[in-house]
Amino acid sequence: MEFTDTVFLPRHRLQSLIDLLCESGYDVIGPTIRQDAIVLESLRDAKALPGGWIDRQEPAVYRIENAGGSRQFDFNVGPSSWKKYLFPPKASIGGARLDQDGWHFTESTEELPRYAFLGVRACDLAGIEIQDRVFTGDEFVDPLYKRLREQSLIIVVECSKTSATCFCKSMGTGPRSESGFDLVMTELDDGFVVRAGSDRGGNLLADLDCQPSTSRQRDAGEKQIAATEASLAKHFDADGVAALLMENLEHPAWDDVARRCLSCTNCTMVCPTCFCSTVEEVADLDQTQVDRVRHWDSCFNPELSYTCGGTARPDVRSRYRQWLTHKFATWHDQFGTSGCVGCGRCITWCPVGIDLTAEVNRFRQETPVD
Ligand code: SF4
Ligand code: SF4
Repeated sequence: MEFTDTVFLPRHRLQSLIDLLCESGYDVIGPTIRQDAIVLESLRDAKALPGGWIDRQEPAVYRIENAGGSRQFDFNVGPSSWKKYLFPPKASIGGARLDQDGWHFTESTEELPRYAFLGVRACDLAGIEIQDRVFTGDEFVDPLYKRLREQSLIIVVECSKTSATCFCKSMGTGPRSESGFDLVMTELDDGFVVRAGSDRGGNLLADLDCQPSTSRQRDAGEKQIAATEASLAKHFDADGVAALLMENLEHPAWDDVARRCLSCTNCTMVCPTCFCSTVEEVADLDQTQVDRVRHWDSCFNPELSYTCGGTARPDVRSRYRQWLTHKFATWHDQFGTSGCVGCGRCITWCPVGIDLTAEVNRFRQETPVD
């Protein structure tokens, strides 16, 4: 099959796709409702998808409501991202064992799940590609991330609406996905226009044995994604932001945002690209086995910058500045890309509604143009 060919998957056959993935050994991860939020979880039944539910997002506001209708992906990104599967919040990364010959280092050999991510949005796919660079992009490769990523399958579902906190287009990450997926699906009222983006995706489509899509279905899908793109209300001028921030490291605006910021770490936890972590060594009681456990950390925690008897970033001002300058400036130096994909999660889930784009815009407005 040519990757340009599309098929039509009627809605009642979405379960066949999930069944096929499960039979092929995948743990299917997709959106579902928990505690009044649309989150990502393991699922085997299409009925677990949030059919008929939509969301509303603003700074510090997240609400879902049942709008009726049949659509199962008619919402934007929720608090969880795919990061928690590829870069787990807590993971054993090896250890050491003592026997009569001394200490021996051990690597984790546990069998890892093969994930099929169902319903990845364009911004989140860009987030995965950024973490690919972070964890596998140079000679220092994270073996756990690499193994999980290589055996994962990605099914994009293009957005049919936008929220007030989305700015993917400004960051060049969405709402369309052109590559990097195994399948891309456009949801219509009665089903999905589906296209493969890899041999694995092509083989899945062949096994599903669907009819080719009609030109009417393709046109409806194209009109929908164009309307989604046009409806993006939030715009952010990302040009020159790195220099703008680095030229303003002592600007009083950092004090202002520090008065509002709670240093709660929410923004870094929900961000699909943030990757700060810490490692703890956990010894057993007879001191013959030590496990190294990695867990998520945040640059908003003062302990993260604790080195040689002192904390390098002791106040909220320095920690917020570290976060914003890393996202938009030094991330480019390290990884050749922005650290922000415009998903808007940090805006929605900041309890005091701090909007990083507004903070950057303030520097732009208050910096004289030469
Ligand atoms: S910017 Fe908001 S979410 Fe981030 S640490 Fe500060 S208060 Fe928490
Ligand atoms: S910084 Fe905020 S908008 Fe950008 S990718 Fe992270 S959570 Fe999304």
